[in-house]
Amino acid sequence: MLSNYKLFVLDDDHQYAELLVEIANEQEWDVDYETDPTSFLKSDINESTILVLDLFMPVIDGIEVIRTLADKKCRCPLILMSGFDSKVLHSAQQLAEAHNIPVIATIKKPFSINEFITVLNSARQGIETSKTLDCDKIKFTRSEIENALVNNEFILHFQPQIDIATSEVTGVEALVRWEHPKHGLIFPDAFVWIVEQYDLIELLTRKVISAAAQSQQSLKPDYPDLCMSVNVTAENITSLFLPEQLKNLLREYDIAPESLTLELTESAVMGHLTSSLDVLNRLRMKGFHLSIDDFGTGYSSLQQLYQAPFNELKIDRTFVSNMLKDKEALVIVEICIMLAKTLNMKVLAEGVEDLAILEKLKSLGCSQAQGYFIAKPMPLIELKHWLSKSRKPSTTSLGI
Ligand code: C2E
Ligand code: CA
Ligand code: CA
Repeated sequence: MLSNYKLFVLDDDHQYAELLVEIANEQEWDVDYETDPTSFLKSDINESTILVLDLFMPVIDGIEVIRTLADKKCRCPLILMSGFDSKVLHSAQQLAEAHNIPVIATIKKPFSINEFITVLNSARQGIETSKTLDCDKIKFTRSEIENALVNNEFILHFQPQIDIATSEVTGVEALVRWEHPKHGLIFPDAFVWIVEQYDLIELLTRKVISAAAQSQQSLKPDYPDLCMSVNVTAENITSLFLPEQLKNLLREYDIAPESLTLELTESAVMGHLTSSLDVLNRLRMKGFHLSIDDFGTGYSSLQQLYQAPFNELKIDRTFVSNMLKDKEALVIVEICIMLAKTLNMKVLAEGVEDLAILEKLKSLGCSQAQGYFIAKPMPLIELKHWLSKSRKPSTTSLGI
């Protein structure tokens, strides 16, 4: 039944690791262990490995292991253990989930054998029911991606962004989808990382930006001030030709750099800060807007944030959507808003899923919002229809 799944224990404490292996063996799991995170991270880990991870280890701790897994796009399910208070477990869980790494359970050390068996049983149930643990995920081949690029199978959906104080629509985020001839509409989390692995991300980004600019051109007569945001990766930003190329590309569609925002994740920028700073500054000098995406989930330090010329901070959706039921998430949202204001940046909350969240953001002084409560991402034709209905939104039309 569990032939595809393996359990892997990573704990610097030999005795603890061995004990867990013994219990798991008795429960008929295929299980192995490692006490050194460096060797573990060098090994071949895949999504059919369930990692039982101790958060407190010297040299490389569990949080760093989670970040490295996220960088490697490895979404192996986790069982997190810690001897510290439950806050540490909670933050680690949030970090993992923000990177789409599923967390099956968190367990506070010391725990009893029975508690661990219960966790293993819930992992077993999770495997049977959860889609995120599906090991049959499609790994597209390079030629499939190349064909898709040539055949223009990558399309854009657009999600509106509003000014919270006035409810006016200020911009849209372009989100790529793959219209696959066999599998139907595929979402970016399932293929962008593969496109990156094949070094084809520059081509994809170029297509995305052209399509976004073309859409913006067609929206311009009715919505001349509507801004467009696109997602770019670390590889895109270290290419030194980007600012000029981008400006020329937009010129073809008569779009000013001031109406394009490039969204970059924190990790993308901070991982290559010195090489990125040059490009980022040149982009800003040409008038493009720069937004730091998924803020709160990466590795930034305040100094780095201060150094990079961002003019928008996007608070990650995991914090926003949980802020009314989770005190820590609320504190993070409050700090992000304060930080953005202090650094003179716009602050956009993504993942606004209901009116109560929107109202809370308004009371906290957040400037912009995006999320399912306002609108889901949609094709251009639907966007035009949606915009025509909410062109001059009264506060009631969005329920504010
Ligand atoms: P992201 O940049 O954080 O984009 C926002 C994601 O959150 C979108 O998922 C959107 O559909 C979803 N979302 C929006 N509002 C809500 C909400 O209220 N609740 C919840 N639960 N989710 C919401 P999507 O379209 O599947 O995109 C996933 C990620 O794929 C994006 O995350 C972005 O990192 C990446 N991506 C999308 N388009 C591109 C692209 O053109 N190039 C690159 N390199 N990456 C892209
Ligand atoms: Ca984004
Ligand atoms: Ca985001």
